Amino acid sequence: MEKTIAINAGSSTLKFKLFEMPEEKVISSGTVDRIGIPGSNFTIKTTDGKKVEIDQPIKNHEEAVNLLLKELLKLDIIKDYSEITGVGHRVVAGGEIFQDSALIDDKVLKQIEDLKEYAPLHNPANATGIRAFKKVLPDITSVAVFDTSFHETLPEKNYLYSIPYEYYEKYGARKYGAHGTSHQYVAGRAAKMMGKPLEELKIITLHLGAGSSITAIKDGKSFDTSMGFTPLAGITMATRSGDIDASLVVYLMQKLNITNPEDILTILNKKSGLLGLSGMSPDLRDIIDAAEKGEHRAQMAIDIFVNNIVKYIGSYATEMGGLDGIVFTAGIGENSVPMREKITSKLGIFNVKLDQALNEKRGERFISAEDSAVQVMVIPTDEELAIARDVEKFKKMGD
Ligand code: ADP
Repeated sequence: MEKTIAINAGSSTLKFKLFEMPEEKVISSGTVDRIGIPGSNFTIKTTDGKKVEIDQPIKNHEEAVNLLLKELLKLDIIKDYSEITGVGHRVVAGGEIFQDSALIDDKVLKQIEDLKEYAPLHNPANATGIRAFKKVLPDITSVAVFDTSFHETLPEKNYLYSIPYEYYEKYGARKYGAHGTSHQYVAGRAAKMMGKPLEELKIITLHLGAGSSITAIKDGKSFDTSMGFTPLAGITMATRSGDIDASLVVYLMQKLNITNPEDILTILNKKSGLLGLSGMSPDLRDIIDAAEKGEHRAQMAIDIFVNNIVKYIGSYATEMGGLDGIVFTAGIGENSVPMREKITSKLGIFNVKLDQALNEKRGERFISAEDSAVQVMVIPTDEELAIARDVEKFKKMGD
């Protein structure tokens, strides 16, 4: 049986899913948490669904990969490493270089590392994950799947910022977007559910998780998206500010006596968003609880989050000249009944109507009422499956 492993390496985490391919059956999954931070641990699900937790210091991504591979054997999930014939790595930034997924060789790996200015928190971690795998399993099909590739189709009018054009030419200063694998995957599922080719639909996909982004999909392609040069832009997120006036960055640096630009970026990436507004938590569940108890700042954070989202929906529907479907996905989009209700209740202008009973169910489904002018869906995202499918394509090319 051939197996493919999908790897999603963050700055201090490494998530994986192991698939039997081409059956697309998940046989194991897990997360290494707090890599390089005290309290590291590894959780892995075995083939019979049991969860095994291992607490031990894990200094870096190489140690994380080694532990993961060792446990796959030890827990009898695989009998031999030769069963794993492919690995797909999620890479956040592909710049303008990677319009599609790529077979990883030394040149591609260097290009991923060179793109670190575009995603300083992510690309170095992605590259370390790739290196660690190459060391242990040097001969398997190894593929990089970029978060930005799906957005390569953005038209110029949507990817250029209104700054001197030569900065785009010289430095690549433009919008690249992110979460492309997720937006592409759920849009494809949505078209299937709606029974029409994606090319004939105008869809807005709402990926609402700790990081959140919104994409307008027209003619089967990404047409506009809310994240920007980096994932910092767009709507209010768990800890990221989303869009702000660039002058405020300079003003705050002066007020806070910040001389290192990295420090202000840390504030905007890690201390802002729902956390910064509410002053209590980056987790929307905590904020909803607090708002129900009458906490003004919690309610305000929710109102701003919702307002940001409906503003994007309004502008994207206008840009596309219509709207057939809206998709909710990721942690908040898939799980939060009240947030879906709040967001859709503000879309009366598009004659969006929610079916309350369907909204409260779980799994992939429509949640709009029969007479809603726009079909609204909840579609659990599966970036790992999309990654594993891309690896299969390359395996076939090599056959
Ligand atoms: P990531 O961006 O890390 O992949 P996820 O898509 O897993 O994030 O989403 C995680 C986020 O989803 C958390 O910040 C959590 O607040 C939020 N979340 C998960 N379940 C719910 C829920 N029932 N209600 C509100 N928020 C939720």
